[in-house]
Amino acid sequence: MSDNSHSLTALNWDDSFVSSLPADPASTNTSRQVRGAAFSRVEPTAVGGPKLLALSESMAAELGMTTALTTSEGFAEAMGGNAVVDGMKPYAACYGGHQFGQWAGQLGDGRAITLGEVINDVGIRYELQLKGAGPTPYSRFADGRAVLRSSIREFLCSEAMHYLGVPTTRALSLVATGDSVRRDMFYNGQEKAEPGAIVCRVARSFLRFGSYQIHAARNDIDTLRRLVAYTFEHHFPHLGPVNKDSVVAFLTQVGQSTAQLMAEWMRVGFVHGVMNTDNMSILGLTIDYGPYGWIDNYDPSWTPNTTDASMGRYCFGMQAQMGGWNLVRLAEALYPLIDDMDAVKSAIETYEKSWSQASGAMVVGKLGLDTHRGEADQLLWSDLTELMQREPTDMTVCFRGLSKVAAAENPLDPILDAFYDPPGPALQEAWGAWLERYLDRVKGIEGRQARMDAFNPGFVLRNYLAQEAIEQAEAGDMSRISELLEAAKTPYADGVALKFGGKRPEWARNKPGCSTLSCSS
Ligand code: AMP
Ligand code: MG
Repeated sequence: MSDNSHSLTALNWDDSFVSSLPADPASTNTSRQVRGAAFSRVEPTAVGGPKLLALSESMAAELGMTTALTTSEGFAEAMGGNAVVDGMKPYAACYGGHQFGQWAGQLGDGRAITLGEVINDVGIRYELQLKGAGPTPYSRFADGRAVLRSSIREFLCSEAMHYLGVPTTRALSLVATGDSVRRDMFYNGQEKAEPGAIVCRVARSFLRFGSYQIHAARNDIDTLRRLVAYTFEHHFPHLGPVNKDSVVAFLTQVGQSTAQLMAEWMRVGFVHGVMNTDNMSILGLTIDYGPYGWIDNYDPSWTPNTTDASMGRYCFGMQAQMGGWNLVRLAEALYPLIDDMDAVKSAIETYEKSWSQASGAMVVGKLGLDTHRGEADQLLWSDLTELMQREPTDMTVCFRGLSKVAAAENPLDPILDAFYDPPGPALQEAWGAWLERYLDRVKGIEGRQARMDAFNPGFVLRNYLAQEAIEQAEAGDMSRISELLEAAKTPYADGVALKFGGKRPEWARNKPGCSTLSCSS
């Protein structure tokens, strides 16, 4: 027998999604409304010169891919969409969504194409999906492609989130297509050609709230039911057959995992930027990295997304509330399978409870407390966040420093680095008073520093760090991408914090890509 470990065909491919669910009967790859189907069969459109720019070795290993495979020409070809190998059954999923509060109808995988499912050697099934692989029936008026800058951001941030311990879709590879893509980055009529790229994303499932909404909106309850049955079988097997109780339990669990995800975003200072219901994973994963950003100075009203700058619907401090709003939209979609308003209400109330628990646990972890003592601890927290907003104060640096605060001569010393401008006497005094309360509260708590440093990252993928990697990559140098990927692996280590963990440099304060991002990608 010949050794084919360097070949993608050696993987254990499966096709549960396309073999279980109704397919689009039409096979033409033209933009259209697709009814009565969960997906359309469509293949990637070939690109000019696929070249592997970056690889997540840990993701590759998890999928059972050898180095011989990931360094082969065939790998770059397949991850660039130029080869569909035996076992793959490519498709684009049909979904809808509420965008910025309005029902937008059919959206779907307009530029993402799932190649197939791989079951790894411990039996975990993953979907491998190319983002930017060309048009699909869901592309509407767009080209199905993605630019290098947004692909670098998705590749790096997916992996950074994974290592931070935040539930997320993963990234396997980043491939340059060799073709250019035309984009109007600032929406000012100045279109320009940019290098194109494709990220291979990986998740147990890319199902979104919008995947269910589209069928409910079309009153296609049969397809809705089949999709829910598929979801239970593969992702919630303990729920059993589809009935009123199991669907309520599903909604409750999606609410719990969503609430936990929101607390995780608040813990690490992540702003998704576009929490539309088509970007909400039913597994509680961070999904669809677009104009996301990281909090530098602590500011709940901040969003990097220029499209949302005036409304601030999806700003940092609104995310938990928006998660709840989105869950109600999912509840509406599932309602035909439940038909009991009280049961739905109690599932929604569970979201509020889960958020309150998760955010309480976040406060405990961020402050290094032993337990949450209720109102007094909540006040300690809100006074701190109020202080961090009085003058621009870096969130990440501040919490990293807070773990080192001790009843020393000047307890403010370890957090001085967090201030973007040196604090004046009044601010120093306010901090002094807060620190006194804090030190009193944490007196006698063992192992506080170690626990806080394992909870409050020193390294996050600050907007300017990704932007530097993009600018270097556009000039042909990929080294910063690998350096950041390496740094992202140990976000809680002090060494990394020293190299990339400092606060945002002054030049990045108002620079596009560092402080603001458009949806053009
Ligand atoms: P997003 O805001 O990235 O979640 O995208 C919203 C919808 O637009 C999804 O259905 C995407 O598939 C689609 N979309 C975004 N960019 C493109 C593109 N360049 N080509 C085709 N569809 C796109
Ligand atoms: Mg999306």
